[in-house]
Amino acid sequence: MSNQYDAIVIGSGIGGLVTATQLAAKGAKVLVLESYLIPGGSAGYFEREGYRFDVGASMIFGFGKKGTTNLLTKALAAVDMSIETIADPVQIHYHLPDGLDLKVHRDYEQFLQELISHFPAEKTGIRRFYDECWQVFNCLNSMDLLSLEEPRYLTRVFFQHPLSCLGLVKYLPQNAGDVARKYIKDPKLLKFIDMECYCWSVVPADRTPMINAGMVFSDRHYGGINYPRGGVGQIALKLVAGLEKAGGEIQYQARVNKIILDAGRAIGVRLTNGKEYYAKKIVSNATRWDTFEKLLPPESLPGSEKKWQKRYQKSPSFLSLHLGVKADVLPSGSECHHILLEDWENMEAEQGTIFVSIPTLLDPSLAPPDHHIIHAFTPSWIDQWQKLPPQEYQQKKEAAAHRLIERLKKLFPKLDTGLDYIEIGTARTHRRFLNRIDGSYGPIPRRKLLGLLGMPFNRTAIPNLYCVGDSTFPGQGLNAVAFSGFACSHRLAVDLGLPTRRD
Ligand SMILES: Cc1cc2nc3c(=O)[nH]c(=O)nc-3n(C[C@H](O)[C@H](O)[C@H](O)COP(=O)(O)OP(=O)(O)OC[C@H]3O[C@@H](n4cnc5c(N)ncnc54)[C@H](O)[C@@H]3O)c2cc1C
Repeated sequence: MSNQYDAIVIGSGIGGLVTATQLAAKGAKVLVLESYLIPGGSAGYFEREGYRFDVGASMIFGFGKKGTTNLLTKALAAVDMSIETIADPVQIHYHLPDGLDLKVHRDYEQFLQELISHFPAEKTGIRRFYDECWQVFNCLNSMDLLSLEEPRYLTRVFFQHPLSCLGLVKYLPQNAGDVARKYIKDPKLLKFIDMECYCWSVVPADRTPMINAGMVFSDRHYGGINYPRGGVGQIALKLVAGLEKAGGEIQYQARVNKIILDAGRAIGVRLTNGKEYYAKKIVSNATRWDTFEKLLPPESLPGSEKKWQKRYQKSPSFLSLHLGVKADVLPSGSECHHILLEDWENMEAEQGTIFVSIPTLLDPSLAPPDHHIIHAFTPSWIDQWQKLPPQEYQQKKEAAAHRLIERLKKLFPKLDTGLDYIEIGTARTHRRFLNRIDGSYGPIPRRKLLGLLGMPFNRTAIPNLYCVGDSTFPGQGLNAVAFSGFACSHRLAVDLGLPTRRD
């Protein structure tokens, strides 16, 4: 019976941990099984020679102090945890083609003025577009964000916030590109809006749901971008501490290779070492492809998943450079996050757009004294790195790193001479350490879809099996997967008969 739980969560990404902590806080008996050595998945970390590198995410939404959309703050508080954060005054410093060099300031007006100075003829359109994004955000930020699969909750929020609910229903099937084109005509400015979306959705504005755009384009000025002191890895570590304090369990190096079914219902999991654990409900924080094609018999892929795969495909992975550099590599006044692109034609191309984060500008403790971390990454497909003999793979990695460093010299002219440490990760590295199919960043629409309407919620076609994380509504990003975790645990709590808040 010690192997019998209320819920087993496969994976300790932020989506999995928010689900687990929420359930444990409500009194459920929860077990998290994580295949890696530490929690966090794409929000994990690794340490080398005095540097603590974030493996992925560094630009963190969800740590605001007000409203309802600060889901990381709320998830930690639910298990009596908190993290000190450092406010980032600029979300992104863009270095784009045709000399389009501008910063997204935390202050909304300052950002608008800087953008308008590049496109004075579009002054009104710019303001109208971003103001409409606020309308979406204000709707979201007026209500508790829980499971849209729970009718009693939906009824309650509808009666409490009818206008916000109608607002969200209106925006749910829309994409940011359509809204932008209502107000903006300048093709270069529309390209900029594409990049504003691409840098977190990895698709242009036409395929980026308006709900997500409204959230990102407003919350950066409302709750702001805040970096957790001690590194992004602290979020998962604190959630795990809270989980254990609330009576939940986590096991590391516990790789699930099978979801056990009985008469078509999920009843347990089997690990690679043969151990089996049973629960009333199973939650997968692995990607949908990993869940349905690797942990379940692929030949019995449910029809709903087949349909979903026709609408969504795997996004590329990344080529990542984790650099330790001498402090004088950074020009004075450097910002923490940068986007670099030299030619609009290459925005979506393999190794086109470069994303840069320098978290030590906010928390110097992550590097030895007088040194900084530069994490530079660029989209890259797994096919580029498959079927290569070890030596060729190594050479290809080094050549790609060299090309990236050459391009980064536009931002950091002294980069060559100030390099102290270098670690190169490819799509294969992401696949292996993050346990994600093809190292993918997550699902992206194959074509233009109706906003977020096609993204599945947490229940699946298999009774007692739920999915959580970036393969579910509302998609990628730490705050988004925290949303998915709140929604999943809410639906599960109802299904398990646990007490839920006010519904
Ligand atoms: C390079 C990069 C940069 C990013 N930058 C940002 C950013 O700046 N801001 C932001 O908000 N987001 C960013 N993201 C996205 C964000 O990190 C992810 O969307 C989010 O962390 C995904 O969380 P998740 O809960 O879906 O699962 P994941 O992080 O994928 O975690 C899933 C966990 O499940 C485990 N697992 C999988 N299969 C099994 C199994 N069979 N058995 C046991 N365990 C298993 C994995 O080991 C992993 O720990 C970035 C991502 C990357 C890769």
